[in-house]
Amino acid sequence: MSRVDAVRVVMGPDEIAAVTAVLESGRIVGGPEVAAFEQEFAEVVGGRTCVAVNSGTSALHLGLLASGIGPGDEVVVPSFTFAATANSVAMTGATPVFADIGPDTFCLDPASAEKAVTERTRAIMPVHLYGQTAEWDAFEAVAERHGLLLLEDAAQAHGSTYDGRPAGSLGHVAAFSFYATKNMTTGEGGMVVCADEETARKVRLLRNQGMERRYENEIAGLNNRMTDIAGAIGRVQLRSLAAWNDRRREIAARYSAELQGVTVPFVRPGSDHVFHQYTLRVERRDDVLATLQADGIGADVYYPIPNHQLPAYATDDDLPETARAAREVLSLPIHPRLTDDEVQRVIDSVNQAVARG
Ligand SMILES: *Cc1c(COP(=O)(O)O)cnc(C)c1O
Repeated sequence: MSRVDAVRVVMGPDEIAAVTAVLESGRIVGGPEVAAFEQEFAEVVGGRTCVAVNSGTSALHLGLLASGIGPGDEVVVPSFTFAATANSVAMTGATPVFADIGPDTFCLDPASAEKAVTERTRAIMPVHLYGQTAEWDAFEAVAERHGLLLLEDAAQAHGSTYDGRPAGSLGHVAAFSFYATKNMTTGEGGMVVCADEETARKVRLLRNQGMERRYENEIAGLNNRMTDIAGAIGRVQLRSLAAWNDRRREIAARYSAELQGVTVPFVRPGSDHVFHQYTLRVERRDDVLATLQADGIGADVYYPIPNHQLPAYATDDDLPETARAAREVLSLPIHPRLTDDEVQRVIDSVNQAVARG
């Protein structure tokens, strides 16, 4: 039987035509596609100003730099996330300080984040993990009490909402990723979403050698620009984002109704989960994972090693919910191109693997 892939990148005739048009135009960088993509993406983030860059990690990095984060500062982040969250903080010269997640949503726990605050803390950067927004009201209260900035790692949350507010419109800055496996892709790419024009201007300077006008470099900067090839793909993908997210939610609803003997994802009332991952908890996770993989099901573990235990960070933080999640989580295929038959195969395979216990 064929494999049920964890991810199937969708690149159709419209993406191909858009790329061809850019290549034929000769304007593969600095052309109109990136600017148009920024304008159009703003519609998913409540009209905020968007600045396109070459990866989600660059978006986090430039968002932090433009927020004035640097050496001597601390930024509170979850440990249970992709390493880019902490890496982007570390690459500004600031120190990522790890806090625990809540037991339900897998997102950073506001109480644990508040305990991690010191007089050096400048910001908290929750991750909308797996496509569900972090508990924003509680973070706003913590930020208010301690005079901190809130930043969003929205790399997995395109189109997600929190009590009707779009992911990307919640914090001082937000970062999206358009890596190949995300809910929409440009191959590699990212977007910085800014609450104010001053921050947006700083991000534009930082992504382009510190200059707005050629050879008038105002500050030191990087080259983190998005190409027009990527921008053109992003514009096409954006048109399908809502339908793809609907399909993800439909598959998630079926999994949650039909899986047995596992803890299905908790969806917080008021949050519009976009299921970048469908992640359950299960006992004897590694056995179940091995069975699924032998059955040709592209199941996987995000994330087996919490960031605070990676060689790059290696702290002795005690984060019990993070440790438990790393032991128990299992993600099932949920990309929008899964057929109903494939969804059924995943369900049968999980239920058999768990029942065999
Ligand atoms: C994918 C991802 C990133 C990084 O995005 P890239 O485009 O791969 O650089 C950052 N944070 C989280 C939570 C991610 O899933």
